[in-house]
Amino acid sequence: MINEAKEILTSHWRNSSDVSPLTGERDLNFEVKSDPKRVLKIYPNASTEDVEFLRLQDRALLSLEGMGITPVPLPSDSGATTIQVQLGAVRLLSWLEGEMWAEASSRDISELGKSVALVDKHLAQLQLSNREIEILKRNFIWNMLQAEEIQSRIQLISDEKLRNQVASAISEFKEKLLPRLNKMKPQLIHNDANDWNIVCGDKIRLIDFGDMILAPRVVGLAVAASYLALDSNDPVFEISKLVRGYHSIAPLSLEELDLLVPLTRMRIAMSIANAALQISQDPNNAYLGISQSKTPSALARLATVDRNYSNFRLRNAIGLEANPNAKKVRNYLSRKLEIHDVVAPPLKKAKKVWIDWSIDNPKLPRSSSEIASILKESGATVGIGRYCENRWVYESSDFDNADSNARTFHLGVDLWMEVGAPVYAPLDGEVELFNDNAKHLDYGPVVILRHKCDDGTPFWTLYGHLSKKSLANWQVGKVFKAGELIGWMGDESVNVGWPPHVHFQLLTDLCGMGIDIYGVAPREEVSLWRGISLNPNLILRIPEGVDAHSRISGSSIKEERLVAIGRNLSLNFNKPLHIVAGEGAYLIDESGNRYLDLVNNVAHVGHCHPRLVAAAAKQMATLNTNTRYLHQSIIEYARSLIGTLPDPLSVVYFVNSGSEANDLAIRLAKAHTKRSGFLSLNHAYHGHTDSVVDISPYKFFGKGGAGKPRNVNVAKLPNLFRGDFRGPDATEKYLQDAVTQLDTLTEPIAAFFSESIVSTAGQIVLPPGYLASVYKEVRDRGGICVSDEVQIGLGRVGERFWGFQLQEVIPDIVTMGKPLGNGHPLAAVVTTAEIASSFNNGMEYFNTFGGNPVSSVIGQTVFDIVMDESLQLNALTTGTYLMNAMRELGREHPIIADVRGHGLFIGVEMMRDEETPATSEVADLMEFALTKGILLSCDGPDNNVLKIKPPLILNNSQVDHLTNVISDWLSK
Ligand code: PMP
Repeated sequence: MINEAKEILTSHWRNSSDVSPLTGERDLNFEVKSDPKRVLKIYPNASTEDVEFLRLQDRALLSLEGMGITPVPLPSDSGATTIQVQLGAVRLLSWLEGEMWAEASSRDISELGKSVALVDKHLAQLQLSNREIEILKRNFIWNMLQAEEIQSRIQLISDEKLRNQVASAISEFKEKLLPRLNKMKPQLIHNDANDWNIVCGDKIRLIDFGDMILAPRVVGLAVAASYLALDSNDPVFEISKLVRGYHSIAPLSLEELDLLVPLTRMRIAMSIANAALQISQDPNNAYLGISQSKTPSALARLATVDRNYSNFRLRNAIGLEANPNAKKVRNYLSRKLEIHDVVAPPLKKAKKVWIDWSIDNPKLPRSSSEIASILKESGATVGIGRYCENRWVYESSDFDNADSNARTFHLGVDLWMEVGAPVYAPLDGEVELFNDNAKHLDYGPVVILRHKCDDGTPFWTLYGHLSKKSLANWQVGKVFKAGELIGWMGDESVNVGWPPHVHFQLLTDLCGMGIDIYGVAPREEVSLWRGISLNPNLILRIPEGVDAHSRISGSSIKEERLVAIGRNLSLNFNKPLHIVAGEGAYLIDESGNRYLDLVNNVAHVGHCHPRLVAAAAKQMATLNTNTRYLHQSIIEYARSLIGTLPDPLSVVYFVNSGSEANDLAIRLAKAHTKRSGFLSLNHAYHGHTDSVVDISPYKFFGKGGAGKPRNVNVAKLPNLFRGDFRGPDATEKYLQDAVTQLDTLTEPIAAFFSESIVSTAGQIVLPPGYLASVYKEVRDRGGICVSDEVQIGLGRVGERFWGFQLQEVIPDIVTMGKPLGNGHPLAAVVTTAEIASSFNNGMEYFNTFGGNPVSSVIGQTVFDIVMDESLQLNALTTGTYLMNAMRELGREHPIIADVRGHGLFIGVEMMRDEETPATSEVADLMEFALTKGILLSCDGPDNNVLKIKPPLILNNSQVDHLTNVISDWLSK
């Protein structure tokens, strides 16, 4: 066959490479050893209908081409992608590099979910002809919707038990699931995301579209889920990861979620029935024996999954609170007038001490006697152990914690008292379950009471580690009135050797686990359990609170962020960092790694500057309110800023962000000029609100942008290094372009917005005299000029305090943001008395947070630190040192094509040659620097400009670190 394959390849694709056979279930596949590699697929004896189906596959694949996650069919000499030869039909497909999922060293299930979703999303948009729809409705053993045919195969299963399990899954499908699927929109689906059809490379890719059918997309998701279920003792855990990834690309409905696990079970049942059919046709098929070895146990596991619990897990995966009843229970308890105390004396009044068992506590009590002495020395009547505390004790070798998903997050509240202390029912309830859980490390005597909200929604309270004597007090169904004695705290023997305490838990479901319901949550499912086992303080009502909010792992945070936070809130780096602390010029991750932060012009005076932290805390402890009262700090701070600005800039408005500052500047300009035309520089960014996106070409010309608004014109960016105009008269030409843009505005000019070093454009330093000339032209036409200092102001540019001063101009409005509050949301607009007076037109200006006492004190302290620590000077000297070092490197390495900037606002532009930006090299350098403990970012339309804007406290030895790292990378 190899010779025939080679012959076809040469004559139809003019490709004379070697070929070697690949395995395949139905067709003949060959690896084509060309560069790049290809796959040749031969379908012997393909019928006309088969060929039509292959052509549909080609169409599907071509519609997915842009995603880069599926093979691309390559046209033969005739232009057709599927051709017919004597042997049958033939196709040539692109080769996808990577390991097969079945053999992959690491498998990212959430990424798989995303790829399945992307394929579904695109296939849903493919317009199908009537003929194609007819073909897709073919009789096909892998079409789950053809339930009658599947049912007819059941009797071929020889094992009786298995036969019954399969029969039960199929009849559930026919009776309960199919009618619901029939109400859903069918679409083209891949329908075969099995371990050998998933290629793991830089992305997760899907191959083999030969099982495509028309069905609701959840059917295809269930196929992917069924293969995950084969390999897992906890299939729903894996399926929830799949769902999270899928949902982040193509949001799932609750109906789809509810169907997914039962459909997964059905798919496995169907696979067993189909294998029985195939074995009946070909008894020696060894492959089938292997593929079927895991299906019976997976089917059994899925049949016993608790429906509520699995729905909670899937709901949690898509960002909803796990148990929909949790809201009802919380609402009921939050407004319940009378709740009895669980212990005496009442917790509100009792002297309490918190027993901190979290792994982060440096003074962790590690023995029973240490806890006893904390309780004794504090003189407290009750010790409190917190909810959602990541506990050291469960990490100890007594517990089985090898698993990354080990259970270490405490779900109850512990109340530590003396042996025999009475425990009372807080609410009316009846005994649902009780037991002496005498196993080592378990609760000993434990009871669960069932309660209900006024609308009947049930919830449960659990009491663990009670005394043996308490057991006599319980019977299933026995009713305890609120305040009635339930039992007594047990001694160390029922407390795992620890001093006596009751583990008190509030549950919204027992998740099919009964008396063994988790009291401690798995590390990777903390959010899930927070939505099932609620904060017990809803009942205990301890005013100081009991929620530890222990830190969850970076991987859980990343996963949850996928669905809980808007996806276009982007993350840096291929493997996002989990940053937990900052100090000076460094950020610190969860493992304690330190990174030199060269990106953060917000942390102007350094991260967590002690003087700033102290000033903020002091003011927070004194007063924070809105600006409708007189307060010294806002005035003092306004005057500090005014003192750095040229006359007549003298009136300040405090706001909360750079965007808000520019938004207000637009309002001021409109109010003052009574006009609505605007001019911006190309590639500029002025913020994220609707009004400022409209003056930000970086956004409106960028991805997802709607283009230039009618009332806005864009002047060419005066980039002398690599702009439209170069050479001695370039500046003049840029000026002429700005004038043309002013003169062709559809509305008369209200304001011209610009930075003096245009950050998002790639740290472009405006040529000398540019702003002075444009300002003159704008003002000659009745407009005003706004300098956006959000990025570069407050001493950063070294030679001067504000960026516009580099251009020797005086703006009419200056907007400020990022550095002002060193991370506290503080921004400002400063203008002239004249413009302020035009704005004061009768409409009140009020800003809830802007300029409040805490913000003002923070702004003032940042300002004072800049002055007292001579940070402007440091920006100048360290920035010059840094730029010199980069230029020195550039002399040896021409990839460093331009080093520009002022002070500590620097751009290093990388070029492969004169015309080709070194985009991928810069991305590579950023990842490389990360491994050496340096954070870098890039900007510019080609993302080829390293953007260096560190805290102003940066010193020369930190610069040397950067230089060494870049030098290492360059010689790599
Ligand atoms: N102007 C410029 C020049 C900016 O770079 C930014 C933010 N990167 C903004 C305005 C908007 O500031 P914020 O994100 O605080 O709204």
